[in-house]
Formats: sequence, C-alpha cells, structure tokens
Amino acid sequence: MADAEFSIIERYFAARARSQAPREDVVVGIGDDAAILQLPAAQQLVMAVDTLVAGVHFPAQASASSIGHKALAVNLSDLAAMGARPLWATLALSLPAVDHAWLEAFASGFFTLAERYQVALVGGDTTRGPLTITVQVCGAITAGRAVLRSGARPGDQIFVTGSLGDAGLALQCLQTAAPSAGQAFEAITQRLHWPEPRLDLGYRLPGLASAAIDISDGLVADLGHILQRSAVGARLWVDRLPRSAAFQTLVNDPLQAAWHALPLTAGDDYELCLTVAPHHSADLRAAAASLSLPLTQVGEIEARPGLRCQDEAGRAYNCPAAGYQHFRS
Ligand code: ADP
Ligand code: MG
Repeated sequence: MADAEFSIIERYFAARARSQAPREDVVVGIGDDAAILQLPAAQQLVMAVDTLVAGVHFPAQASASSIGHKALAVNLSDLAAMGARPLWATLALSLPAVDHAWLEAFASGFFTLAERYQVALVGGDTTRGPLTITVQVCGAITAGRAVLRSGARPGDQIFVTGSLGDAGLALQCLQTAAPSAGQAFEAITQRLHWPEPRLDLGYRLPGLASAAIDISDGLVADLGHILQRSAVGARLWVDRLPRSAAFQTLVNDPLQAAWHALPLTAGDDYELCLTVAPHHSADLRAAAASLSLPLTQVGEIEARPGLRCQDEAGRAYNCPAAGYQHFRS
C-alpha cells in the first residue's frame, strides 16, 4: 500500500468511520485485511452493490458531496425495497488524481447519509483510475420476511411513493437548452443529485407489501420486473402518476410531448413501487402518512400477462417499451 493511498484512506474514511457512532456488531472495521461483522441472531444477511461511473451515472455538474450521497443512497434504496435494515457498507473508490477538496466533500456527502441511518463504513479499496465509485451495503432482516419481486398477485393494488419523473426531467434540462434556473429547476435537480432512500417506509413493508422494487430505471421497466417475476400483468392509470409541483411547472407545454412520459420512463427517482393486497392497503397508507411520505395508487395487478396503460377516460395509452433506458447507457 502506497503512503499516499494510506493517508487518503486514513484522513477521509478511516478517521471519519471511527468517529461514527460505534456499532457493537462491527467486530473489526477498517484497518485489517477484512472486516468482521456479527449478524444479529435469527436474521438473514441482505446485500446490494452498485457502481457509479463518472459521465454515465452522474453528470459532470454533480458536486462531490452529492456523488458521495448518491453512491450510498442508491444502495440503501435497494435495501428499502427488500424491507431490510442497513448495517454496514464498503466503499471502493477509483480516483484519477488526489483532489483534497473533492475527497472532503465526497466523504461529507457519504457520511452524512450513513450517519442518518446508522450505517457503519467497515472497509473498502482505493485505487487510481477513471472516477468510479462502488458501494456495497449489507443489511439484515428477520429470516423469511424480505419483500421480493415475486410476490404480486392478481387483485393487488400498485402504489408508488413520492413523485415520479423529477430526476429524469432534471437530466433532460441539463442535457438540453431547457430551463436551468429558478425554484422548480432547483427542486428537480435536488431530486437527481440527492435521492432519498425510502428506508423508513421500507422497514414497514414486511407483512404488508406483497412485492416491492425501487424505481431506478423507470416505472414501466421496474414494474415490469415485478410482473415478470410474479408471472402476472397489470393495469396502470397514467393520469394518476404522482408528479411534483416543480415537474408540473416545467412540463406545462403540450409541445414537450416526450417529457409528459417521463414519470413512466425516467429512472433515478429512487421511489418505491409496491404491490399490496387490498386488505393491507389501509395499513400501508397509514404507515406512509405517519412518515409524511406521499403514497399514490397507480394501478392494479391482473392475472393476464403484460402491462396495459390507460388514461382517465379508460382509453388505452401506448406505454413506452418496458426496459427502455432513457437515461442510462
Ligand atoms: P489491502 O491491501 O489488504 O486490500 P488496503 O490498503 O486496500 O488493504 O486497505 C487497508 C484498509 O483500509 C482495509 O481495511 C480496507 O478495507 C480499508 N479501505 C481501503 N480503502 C477504503 C475506502 N475507500 N473506504 C473505507 N475503507 C477503505
Ligand atoms: Mg485493497
């Protein structure tokens, strides 16, 4: 290990990890060849990993602190969609050069979110190379209680949290000559750079939701994964998709036809899409209301395979192809 690498690890990650609230389940954290972690009794380990590549997963305009936040947030979002509680994380960082201001801001974005959910940074790797950040999160759930993609049943109601399309719209605005100032633009840009993992609702999902997924690639694509894994179909009410006030302010021109479909197609919002048996929906609504998290029913699961989109008048709406990845390459 080179001295420079050691001092980066120590200064920006090991020291900060030591100053996190200590977790008793971290037997050995940063500093040895591997971390040693104690899984709570009768719990299953839940793991997720995601890589962010500069220019692919975040635009050049993104601040270092938002990159640190997002690298962890996208993983926490995966755990939220399983109903799991995050415990530990590792961080593999590939950096083109040592930029102290960048590292300071990156670590602050990462640790601020980690501390909010008591996630301990227990290890990682630091190398020179094109800017790439890989975060792995480990969490726990009571054995057998995880919420899978495969549990949706005909008659279940489909819900989404928060609002959809904001992050995708922000990316569109940044990539085109579209509005790039003002309060509404600030609001959607915040959604793109600072996604909020819906962990607090995630903890309440076991026993309530029949299936769940976090929306990273767009509702049509991600709901499609639930449909496929559950061997069911769905009806989606496109006029009822929750759109933020900022989204509605910016997409108010009928000529922006392509933008109207963003709540269906755009990724990066990291909201949850949930399916719920009707007798559990009041409890789910109450759980979301107690967190002040908007929750909207956007459709229902049907036995017939395929996704059918319709407008308020019941007319068929031509759904953009599932799996179409507008904002990823
Ligand atoms: P090794 O050569 O054994 O892989 P490293 O020099 O890569 O050791 O890492 C030394 C210690 O620092 C290990 O405990 C490793 O997990 C930790 N570490 C390295 N990079 C990071 C990082 N970016 N964030 C957190 N911990 C890190
Ligand atoms: Mg190493």
